[in-house]
Amino acid sequence: MNKRIHLSIAHMGGNEQKYANEAFEQNWIAPLGPNVDAFEEAVADYSERTAAAALSSGTAAIHLAVKLLDVQQGDTVFCSALTFIASANPIIYEKAEPVFIDSERDTWNMSPKALEKALQEAEAEGKLPKAVIIVNLYGQPAKMDELLALCKKYGVPVIEDAAESLGAIYKGRKSGSFGKFSIFSFNGNKIITTSGGGMLLADDKELIDKARFLATQARDKALHYQHSVSGYNYRLSNVLAGIGRGQMEILEDRVTRRREIFDIYNEVLGELPAVEFMPELEDTKSNRWLTALTLNRKNTDVTPVELIDYLAEQNIEARPVWKPLHLQPVFEGCKYYAHDEDVSKDLFENGLCLPSATIMTDEDIYFVAEQIKKFLTEQR
Ligand SMILES: *Cc1c(COP(=O)(O)O)cnc(C)c1O
Repeated sequence: MNKRIHLSIAHMGGNEQKYANEAFEQNWIAPLGPNVDAFEEAVADYSERTAAAALSSGTAAIHLAVKLLDVQQGDTVFCSALTFIASANPIIYEKAEPVFIDSERDTWNMSPKALEKALQEAEAEGKLPKAVIIVNLYGQPAKMDELLALCKKYGVPVIEDAAESLGAIYKGRKSGSFGKFSIFSFNGNKIITTSGGGMLLADDKELIDKARFLATQARDKALHYQHSVSGYNYRLSNVLAGIGRGQMEILEDRVTRRREIFDIYNEVLGELPAVEFMPELEDTKSNRWLTALTLNRKNTDVTPVELIDYLAEQNIEARPVWKPLHLQPVFEGCKYYAHDEDVSKDLFENGLCLPSATIMTDEDIYFVAEQIKKFLTEQR
């Protein structure tokens, strides 16, 4: 049996341990400290944002954005349908109602056409959403110009969920620099990781200060412990922020490598009539966090599940595309706006993600690609 080939796994650069060790040497183990400050600054600078708060997870970052946009019980929040559930869970934490927006085919991300329809209807009903959460799936930026113009027209603030797209570029601007708020995740499977962590960013220092306040139990400025509102325990530890500092130093290498991994898959599989890779929009640079593709069912009888099972037998980890949130049992009954036909459902039913971990060697990637090619050509 060959060694296990992972979908996406932590890949340290070298300096992570040095920064974490500094926390030990200074006995700065408890939350906050120099690593947290430096990590926040590194991510804010990189993302062309004025302020950033390091948090315990990407989900916490979305939650604080939702809180700061004053989302309350009975409000609606629009959210990309094709995403990991963490994008929408904070809407539920605040007892608001998610409304899911379909994808378009050029980026697999939020469809401007479906968003426009949803906004028009919401306005007609006199109930515009409190926020729109736009996700950049698998590292590919969404059609931000069109989406932001619509949100601006209706006066609805945007939260950019850039959890998967750190390092990607949209028309010369960094992914994670769009919207009133943006968020990153440093979960173990992301392009860089702190083992667990997240970041909330904005171009408004006061808002980020408010986020920091809410993230540290909303403690008022008083010597005794006094609280006027209820907060959370959401800050990132100084030890983990040390890992983040080291990871930021090698982010560009990781983006380059993820894109090389895509190129190898494309080289081996790109000509197969059964395979259609996730597109890259003109004028954007995806970080290719995960190489994703759909199987063209006109040209093959193989289903994604069959292919994933076959790869699993070779000790290779592949995964279906995220199950869209409007199809999740937990969100049954929530409103959904389709593009024309249900694009996200189609991408889910025909799509899969290939191993894209940067620790893989070229040999590993060619091995995976050849396994896929073999299965697709033999089964057809
Ligand atoms: C990973 C992820 C999140 C959540 O980040 P955590 O750090 O795991 O809480 C949110 N949105 C998307 C699209 C993600 O992929």
